[in-house]
Amino acid sequence: MTRTPEPTPTTTATVARIAAGDRRLIARVATAIERGQLETSELLDALYRGGGHAHVIGVTGPPGAGKSTLVDQMVTCYRRAGSRVAVIAVDPSSPVTGGATLGDRYRMMRHHADDGVFVRSMANRGQPGGLAPAAMGLVDLFDVAGFDPVIVETVGIGQSDTAITALAETTLLVQAPGNGDSIQTLKAGILELGDILVVNKSDSTGASELRRDLLAMLALDATGPETAWHPPVVPVSAANGENVGALLSAIAEHRVFLGKEAEGQRRRTARATVAVHSLLRANLERQVLMLMETAGPDLIDDVASRRRSPREAARQLLG
Ligand code: GDP
Repeated sequence: MTRTPEPTPTTTATVARIAAGDRRLIARVATAIERGQLETSELLDALYRGGGHAHVIGVTGPPGAGKSTLVDQMVTCYRRAGSRVAVIAVDPSSPVTGGATLGDRYRMMRHHADDGVFVRSMANRGQPGGLAPAAMGLVDLFDVAGFDPVIVETVGIGQSDTAITALAETTLLVQAPGNGDSIQTLKAGILELGDILVVNKSDSTGASELRRDLLAMLALDATGPETAWHPPVVPVSAANGENVGALLSAIAEHRVFLGKEAEGQRRRTARATVAVHSLLRANLERQVLMLMETAGPDLIDDVASRRRSPREAARQLLG
């Protein structure tokens, strides 16, 4: 086992201020993490080592299923129970907006003045390696800052989302009736992602059919050992907060399950593997971009005019 260097006194002091809940510092560090400015600093390493206390809840599902509305209601419920909650809303599809998505701006307004809530949204700004490294950093930051749970909301379907989904200990897969692509989503094997299947918009027609279909699909799938977790199907109506309390109870049960069963350890190992993999990928992608910058127009011209093959060019760049 390699020994890790001791953090410098400045890093230790910064972590202590974050742990004490210094909101301005937390906001500044969050911005630096989103911009990828801390990737080589020891602060993220120290935050990771200090983390691991918060329950990380993933909320995933197709656009329009009501994830944002649901997360808002969950925050309200958790606040009522006295928990401090952080939300990371990830939108890998959104173009460069330079700030919060529209949904985010109005959605969390009512929690704005609440010290016990911290909301951050991240859009894809073309970072090499995608959003996963930043999402991981934010989770550790909020964890150390004492927020529990940390909710990570994402569409969860794109490839770049896989690493982000793996961050969560408990994943809610949100579906709603009348969502055209929900069956396709299920076909793509997404169902397996969900520790809890949420049927949102239970006030609308088609909700009980959707619930029935999900239960039938789960029954087909139920081949695990007796001790395995059997994902419950929880109907809610996020628009009016109906049954969100029951959803929170299901989440708490899953947390207890992970604490007791070997599954908890298995998932920690899987998460660690995905985390290292996606950071390696981000680093290598950054190196690829740098190599491409050194390629120069002549080399590319050679390939374009078939004087040199792309393989030869790549070999040359790799030296
Ligand atoms: P997201 O894209 O998954 O985050 O979905 P949103 O939270 O933005 O919700 C999409 C739309 O569904 C919005 O117009 C919401 O008002 C609506 N919606 C959300 N929850 C419910 C619900 O429980 N019932 C009904 N009828 N509509 C809902």
